Amino acid sequence: MCKLPLERTALKKYREAGKIARKVREDVRSFVREGMAVIEVCEWVEDKIRRLGGQPAFPCNVSINHIAAHYTSPPNDKSLIPEDSLVKVDIGVHMDGYIADTATTICFNPELKFLEETSMQALMKGIEIIQPGISTSEFGSAIQRFIESRGLKPISNLTGHQIDRYLIHAGKSLPNVSHFSLSKIREGEIFAIEPFVTTRDGAGRVRDGPPGNIYRLVKQKSVKDPEAKRVLTYIKNHYRTLPFAERWLRKVFPRKILDEAFQKLLRSRILMVYPVFVEAKGKPVAQAEHTVLITRNGCEVLT
Ligand code: MN
Ligand code: MN
Repeated sequence: MCKLPLERTALKKYREAGKIARKVREDVRSFVREGMAVIEVCEWVEDKIRRLGGQPAFPCNVSINHIAAHYTSPPNDKSLIPEDSLVKVDIGVHMDGYIADTATTICFNPELKFLEETSMQALMKGIEIIQPGISTSEFGSAIQRFIESRGLKPISNLTGHQIDRYLIHAGKSLPNVSHFSLSKIREGEIFAIEPFVTTRDGAGRVRDGPPGNIYRLVKQKSVKDPEAKRVLTYIKNHYRTLPFAERWLRKVFPRKILDEAFQKLLRSRILMVYPVFVEAKGKPVAQAEHTVLITRNGCEVLT
């Protein structure tokens, strides 16, 4: 099966989304401070994306220490960036559904700096080896070997992923460990490469924590309740199949209406809520991520 090369306009939008995502990722590194409110970081990132002409492809994730991924602030979040913490900021931008997904780790603890550096170097390794024809299992083995050569552990059940229009996790996964798979990388595909790294005494995997504050439309089904219907229509029109935050809807609907509508939509399984992912032994996790376009000889980093 041969995939057609990306349409020119699609490629242009991927590149624009990538450029915005890169700018926000670079700037957020000097914005985040110990003691700052987490919600301030989330909203700063999301506002900056919009001011630069993009749309958030998902709520800004601010995942701290052993929380590996999928934390975003609920409305009125009181949590703060702790002292000596390892903070992962994961940023998604889309232009017309063409998504750039990128993440960075900000380290306030010199003893954990090695985790941040290794996740970044593992990402560079991934960028160096990815090319048409490589299998996802060869890719995963190489990343695992690299991380283990540094005396650390990859998180085996958090993976990079193929990206498609309005779909963050499309088609193929890109694990950071050796695994059995026949799937191969092809020219013209878009991938997020994202190694997650923990300490040697960590479990090297995440478990589901409590439900987070990130939601997504998962089922096409109508609802009778007029308020729930209004909220659902808004979600379909504004986010389609992309994840969103309750914070965003609070700016549009009164709290009481939203709370009831949300409960109805979750109960009827039209919406899903993502759990927060935590390192299974509670060890700190670092992450680095870029979105790349697979080219004839390798890849173009979009972010
Ligand atoms: Mn990401
Ligand atoms: Mn990703």
